[in-house]
Amino acid sequence: MSFTLAIVGRPNVGKSTLFNRLVGKRLALVDDTPGVTRDLREGAARLGDLRFTVIDTAGLEDATDDSLEGRMRRLTERAVEMADVCLFVIDARAGVTPVDEIFADILRKRSGHVILAANKAEGAAAEPGVYEAWGLGLGDPVQISAEHGEGMNELYARLMPLS
Ligand code: GDP
Ligand code: MG
Repeated sequence: MSFTLAIVGRPNVGKSTLFNRLVGKRLALVDDTPGVTRDLREGAARLGDLRFTVIDTAGLEDATDDSLEGRMRRLTERAVEMADVCLFVIDARAGVTPVDEIFADILRKRSGHVILAANKAEGAAAEPGVYEAWGLGLGDPVQISAEHGEGMNELYARLMPLS
């Protein structure tokens, strides 16, 4: 059985980098057509022998500061509804921010699976952020580096029971 994973989190934490790593060139819809804005991107993901659908909440990058929270809530709630499991990504180098806390509140209220990922975890600069991530009340963060491909085995181990 396959499943759908939604990658959620505030702008700039590395969601699209992870999406691209999982999907490679198997992106179903080309989203970089000039003038076309797509809020949610869907792709066919591969991780080891797992095959699943992945959703990237891509539209947040375009939000202006004063509309970010509302837009974020709507997009995240839509992605969450479509998904069997959410991967909530924080930037371990930046640590937990107030916007991350808002996401954590949205996600704690949902009954389904939520996996917390501390991205940009390559190197020692990420360690304080990983400890802060524990405080979000969403369990043990998976430490990953979407850019460098680190932590993919641990992510696999979290997703494997869902397949
Ligand atoms: P999004 O807004 O959440 O989709 O974030 P992006 O995927 O666009 O990434 C935002 C920035 O973080 C880019 O400059 C990426 O190159 C960088 N980034 C993504 N993943 C990593 C990582 O694992 N380590 C580091 N150091 N930078 C990363
Ligand atoms: Mg993005």
